[in-house]
Amino acid sequence: MSDLYVILGVDRTVDAAALKRAWRDLARRLHPDRNPGDPSAGSRLAEVNAAYDVLSDPERRAQYDRYGADAASAFFDPSTAEPLAPAEQRGIRTGPVRARPVLHGADANVVLLLSALQASRGGVHTVEVEPDRVCDGCGGTGLRRTGRLCGKCERGVIKGLGSWRVQVPRGIASGQVLLATGRGHPGSGRGARSGDLRITVDVEPVYTTEGLDRVVRVPAEESVLAHGGVLEVQPPVGEAVRIRIKPQTRPGQRIRLRGKAEAGRDLLVELQSIPDAPIPVDVVRI
Ligand SMILES: [Zn+2]
Repeated sequence: MSDLYVILGVDRTVDAAALKRAWRDLARRLHPDRNPGDPSAGSRLAEVNAAYDVLSDPERRAQYDRYGADAASAFFDPSTAEPLAPAEQRGIRTGPVRARPVLHGADANVVLLLSALQASRGGVHTVEVEPDRVCDGCGGTGLRRTGRLCGKCERGVIKGLGSWRVQVPRGIASGQVLLATGRGHPGSGRGARSGDLRITVDVEPVYTTEGLDRVVRVPAEESVLAHGGVLEVQPPVGEAVRIRIKPQTRPGQRIRLRGKAEAGRDLLVELQSIPDAPIPVDVVRI
């Protein structure tokens, strides 16, 4: 099986912020809207999202690290290229030990790409979280070789988390997270909770001109502005650039990136504050 860290292109020592950056970068590049007619991008994206679902959860990441790639394949196997093993194989045992352990479901993570206009207007958008897939237990027939009904699926299909319609609030900024409580991976056992669906918004940057400079507004979490951190900025040309934010940076502050705009012009990065807390939203399954 592929290593989850390799799938996301990160070191095993990666911290949560860098892990998130790596995931968002890949999710943006592999997004179906950006790769029309390329089905391999969709299955890579599913793999990337599934790897992030595990590694972004500290308990699940510890479990994965402890048991290594081989043992971890028992609860998560991305080499199938299909997103997720059943929750009971990946979950974490909680509560008192008993015959049927209660396994809470994992959060599901997905990126929603929006244009600047869509972000300012808000409104209803669709996210495809995890498509249904053909059952690997019975090859999609719904029957075991013995002729019995397959216990893993319904008529040969394993239900994914499907697609959801989400109400996006107006004025949403890149990096903000829309939280649909209980819409993530299902748990198993009595009283088990489902995970949450976390929709990270990604808004196309808008570049304006001021004199000889180009200007772009870049959202940063309040905690990053307060305590410092690293931000990724996409200039109008060339590769993304990482900039270090000093502690106690005020929103509205500008950082000059020399020669990073078109024709060697400077890019001014204007920092915009966004809340760390996710925004609760309503979603409807479609
Ligand atoms: Zn089956």
